Amino acid sequence: MLVVMSTQATPDEIDHVLAAIRAMNLTPHPMPGATRTAIGITGNIGAVDPRTLEVLPGVSELLRVTKPFKLASREMRPADTYVKFAQTTIGPGTLTMIAGPCSVETETMILRTAEFMMENGVRLMRAGAFKPRTSPYSFQGMGLEGLKILEKARQKTGIGIVTELMDTDNADAVEASADIIQIGTRNMQNFSLLKRVGKMRKPVLLKRGMSATLEEWLMAAEYVMAGGNYNVILCERGIRSFSDHSRNTLDLSVIPPAKKLSHLPIMVDPSHGVGKREFVPAMALAALAAGADGLLIEVHPDPDHAASDGAQTLDFAAFKKLLENLRRLAEPLGKTVN
Ligand code: PEP
Ligand code: MN
Repeated sequence: MLVVMSTQATPDEIDHVLAAIRAMNLTPHPMPGATRTAIGITGNIGAVDPRTLEVLPGVSELLRVTKPFKLASREMRPADTYVKFAQTTIGPGTLTMIAGPCSVETETMILRTAEFMMENGVRLMRAGAFKPRTSPYSFQGMGLEGLKILEKARQKTGIGIVTELMDTDNADAVEASADIIQIGTRNMQNFSLLKRVGKMRKPVLLKRGMSATLEEWLMAAEYVMAGGNYNVILCERGIRSFSDHSRNTLDLSVIPPAKKLSHLPIMVDPSHGVGKREFVPAMALAALAAGADGLLIEVHPDPDHAASDGAQTLDFAAFKKLLENLRRLAEPLGKTVN
C-alpha cells in the first residue's frame, strides 16, 4: 500500500499519517519526492483496514501495490534509485566498475590492485576476506586480518571497499570495514542474514541466487529494504543450467524485466557467470549493451597463482583493454564508465 500525500501536506500532517500507520502495527517508509511525499506501508496489511488513512488531513490518495515485493517495486517508487558513495554513484547513466581479486591474499597484492584501479579510474575494489567455498579444504579467506588489509588499502588510496558478509557472526566487523556489503549467491535466501543487513546503513550488493527467479531475488531485496536499508544493488552472476561450456549461465535477459519491475540498480558479474577468463570481456560488453548499471570483475596481479577463482580472473593488462573497450561502447549508449 502506498499513501500519496498532497503537494500541500504539512510536515505535521505527514507525521500524523506515520503515527497512524505505526498504530496499526504496520511500518511506514516515507519517500520524499520533488513535489510531494509518498509513504510506503509494509507489514501484514490483511489484518487491518488501511483505508481509514484515506480521510486523514493531507492525504491525496491510497494506492494498492499488487506485487509481493513492495519497497523494491517500481509501483511503489517509480524513480530509479541511485546509490551514492564518497567515491562514486551507482545508477542509470553510468557503468560503475567494481574490480579486484576474488580473495584478499596478501597486503602487497591488495595494495597493488587498489593503486592500479585508482590509476585507471576505478573507484571501487572487490575482494573477499570471508570466502564461501564449495570444499571445506579450499582456502577459506583471511577473515578479520583480510578486513584490516582492505581498510589499509582504502586509507592509502581512497578506494571504496566491496567485501562479502557470509554470516551474522561477522556482521559488525564487515559493516565497519566495507563501503558495500556483498551478499553471495549462496546466501540470497539466508533470511536472518538479510534481516541483519537490513538494519545496517551501508549499501548491500545482493547477488542473485544461482537458482532464484527474478521474483525470489526481488523478495530477497525486500527483506533488506523492509529493515530500513533502501540502498540495495542487484547483481546478476549466472544461474545453474544444463550448459557445460561455462561455469554458470549468465542471464543477461534478466536485466530489462528487473529494470521494469524494480527501481533498484543492477550490476552484472561476468566472471562468475562464465568462469573462464577468455570469455569475460565479451559478456562484460554485452552486459553494458543490455542495460547494466555496473560490472563486478575479478582482476588479480597474477591470476595463474590466485588463491581462488584464478581461471576466471583477468590480469591487469586484460582488464585495462576491457576498460578501453567498455568506454568506447559506453559513449554511443549515452553512458560513462566510472
Ligand atoms: C565472489 O564474488 O567471489 C563470489 C563468491 O560470488 P558468488 O556468491 O556469486 O559465487
Ligand atoms: Mn570469486
